[in-house]
Amino acid sequence: KIIEGEKLRKKLHNTILELKGNIRVFCRVRPLLSDDCASSETKVVSYPTTTEALERGIELTQNGQTHCFMFDKVFTADAPQKDVFVEISQLVQSALDGYKVCIFAYGQTGSGKTHTMMGKPGSPDQKGLMPRSLEQIFETRQALQPQGWKYEMQVSMLEIYNENIRDLLSTNSSRTDNGVAGKQYAIKHDTNGNTHVSDLTVVDVRSSKEVSYLLDRAAQSRSVGKTQMNEQSSRSHFVFTMRISGTNVSTDQQVQGILNLIDLAGSERLSKSGSTGDRLKETQAINKSLSSLSDVIFALAKKEEHVPFRNSKLTYLLQPCLGGDSKTLMFVNLSPDPASVGESLCSLRFAARVNACEIGIPRRQTSLRSSESRLSLG
Ligand code: ADP
Ligand code: MG
Repeated sequence: KIIEGEKLRKKLHNTILELKGNIRVFCRVRPLLSDDCASSETKVVSYPTTTEALERGIELTQNGQTHCFMFDKVFTADAPQKDVFVEISQLVQSALDGYKVCIFAYGQTGSGKTHTMMGKPGSPDQKGLMPRSLEQIFETRQALQPQGWKYEMQVSMLEIYNENIRDLLSTNSSRTDNGVAGKQYAIKHDTNGNTHVSDLTVVDVRSSKEVSYLLDRAAQSRSVGKTQMNEQSSRSHFVFTMRISGTNVSTDQQVQGILNLIDLAGSERLSKSGSTGDRLKETQAINKSLSSLSDVIFALAKKEEHVPFRNSKLTYLLQPCLGGDSKTLMFVNLSPDPASVGESLCSLRFAARVNACEIGIPRRQTSLRSSESRLSLG
C-alpha cells in the first residue's frame, strides 16, 4: 500500500512537472550597500504591481528605457534568507526522493550569489540556502527512519577555474593542484547516469555539522587560491555535490538522488574586468562556460535532439543532473546599484533565455503622473 501511494505521489508529481517543465528561474535583488553609488533619484530596479506580475515581475530602467521581465519568483531586497529557503525546500526534499537537483546562483561579482548560497558565517538569521538545505536533509533523514528508510550521503566540492577542475577537499589542495602529476580529474559518466571524477575526494557524511566542517575546509582552500591567483574565487565556479542513496529496509525500495549547489563565477563582461593576459583568459573561460550553460538549458527546454553538454567542463560534469527528469533552479542575482545597470540587464537577459520569459517590449520611461499601465502582460 505504501508503495502504491508512493508511486501515485511520484506520478502526480511528474505530471505537474511535465506541465510546467523542470526549469525554474528565481530573481533576487540585493539591498543597496554603502559602497554603491546610488541615490534615490537614480533608482533603476522597480517592480510591477499588477496582480499577475506581483512577486514575479521585475523592471529595469536604463537610459530612460524600461525592460520588463517575469520569472517564477522575484525576491526584493528585503526578502529574508528564510523566505528564500521556503521557496526551495521542496526542491531540496526531492533529492531524498531520488531526484537529481541543480541549484545555480548566477550574476555579476557582488550581486549576492554567495550570500544566497552560503549566507553570512556566524549569523543564524543570515544563513544561506546551502546550510539550510543540509539541515533539512539530515532532519528528514531522521524523520524517515521509523518508516524503514536508511540513507547514506557523500559529498564532494570542487572549483572550475579556466576550464580546470580543482578538488577543494583534497588534503593537498592548499596548493593549486591543477596539473599536478597524476591529477587529471577526468570526468566520466557510467551507464547508470553516475558521474565519476577521477582523483576527486568524496567524503561520507552523517550530519550537517560534518558537512559544515567540510565547507569550511573548502572555503579555506578557495581563499588560499584567491591570494595566489588574483581573486580566483569570484572567477571560478564552485560546485557542491551531495549524493544521497536511500534504501527502505521493509519494502526494499531504493532511491538515488543528487543535490548540486553551484555558486557560478561572476558573469561580468570583458570591459569591466580588464582585457589582457590572465584576466582575458579567465573571462573567456567564464563566458564560454556560462554561455554553454544557457545553451544546454535552452536546448533541454526546447527538447532539442542535440544538447551541447560537451562544450564546457561545467555542463559536462553536470550532464546527468541537467537532463531527463532532473530539476534545475537558477537564481539570477542582481545589484540595484545604477552603476551596475548594464550588467544587470545582461543577467536578466541571460535568465530570460534560460526561462524564455522576457515579456513586453522596451518602452520609454513615463512620468509618474502618467496613468499608463505599468506592465502589459502579452
Ligand atoms: P557575489 O558572491 O555575487 O560576488 P556576495 O554574496 O559576496 O556577492 O555579496 C556582495 C555583498 O553584498 C556582501 O557584502 C553581502 O553580504 C551583501 N549582500 C548580498 N546579498 C545580500 C542580501 N540579500 N542581504 C544583505 N546583504 C547582502
Ligand atoms: Mg561570491
